[in-house]
Amino acid sequence: MDLNDRPLFGVAGFPPAFFESEYRKKRTNIFQWLNSLSLNWVELQNTYGVKMKEEQAKEYRKLASEYNVGISIHAPYYITLASADPDVVKRSIERIFQCYWLADVIGANRIIFHPGFFGGKTDEDRKKGLDQLINGLLSIKNDIPNNIYLYAETAGKCSQLGSLEEIIKICNAVSYVRPCLDLAHIHGFTHGSLISTESIVKVIECVEQELGRKMLDEIHFHMYPVEIDKNGEKRHRAFFEKNEIQQMNLFSNKDEWFYPRPEHFVSAIKQKKINPIVVCEALNSQEQGAMLMKKMYEESDI
Ligand SMILES: [Zn+2]
Repeated sequence: MDLNDRPLFGVAGFPPAFFESEYRKKRTNIFQWLNSLSLNWVELQNTYGVKMKEEQAKEYRKLASEYNVGISIHAPYYITLASADPDVVKRSIERIFQCYWLADVIGANRIIFHPGFFGGKTDEDRKKGLDQLINGLLSIKNDIPNNIYLYAETAGKCSQLGSLEEIIKICNAVSYVRPCLDLAHIHGFTHGSLISTESIVKVIECVEQELGRKMLDEIHFHMYPVEIDKNGEKRHRAFFEKNEIQQMNLFSNKDEWFYPRPEHFVSAIKQKKINPIVVCEALNSQEQGAMLMKKMYEESDI
């Protein structure tokens, strides 16, 4: 995989600000809009399935390269290879192939997916679900292009597969899977652990130790602040929003912000000298969050 000489910051989907801008008339203007904000990435959401037609994908590809914006594909939410229902597994595999088709036509080499739910409730069911998911991913080995990678994303809710350990296991077992660390999800899954630079460095070092420097260099991040409760992720927040309910919320931190914080993240990637793709999913302010992190990165010394 080609690596960048600096981190690339961008947005998930089409932020509300795009539709308020002068570029709003055509969705294909997203690339020009991002370029005007000095952002370099867009993750295209295919929440309810891959709907894009070939012509449109080719146009996106052309404009993305013209405006120097990279594209990743976010797979539909209902990819559940660990389901107990064989029909659901079969349909999930079909959706993965649709993502590969789109990635190939649009010129993306990263497909992000959620490991999703598993059949049952116990730790034993969870382990079985993970094995089934790995086998499902291995089953497509001979039918996929070898320059496009599947990124397994960390889960925000404890009831889903996708702890950091599980993501690492999937990456170790399947050669074409890479880690997508949604730091807000990790924060939710671990009941609020990412409250400092050090805590984020620790997560990055865990990936480095378990998967090696090469995979660390190819890492993908989702980064935004999140409101959490005892089950994990509750809702996305914006970096500038203050946590007014902190008095009632056992899982909030001592100050008024939602975590993880951009300054902690930026110093963590600087310390580890990595140049990842960073997709911002901050609530209704994806581009503002991405621009803030980019500015902090460019202006801070640590
Ligand atoms: Zn996701």
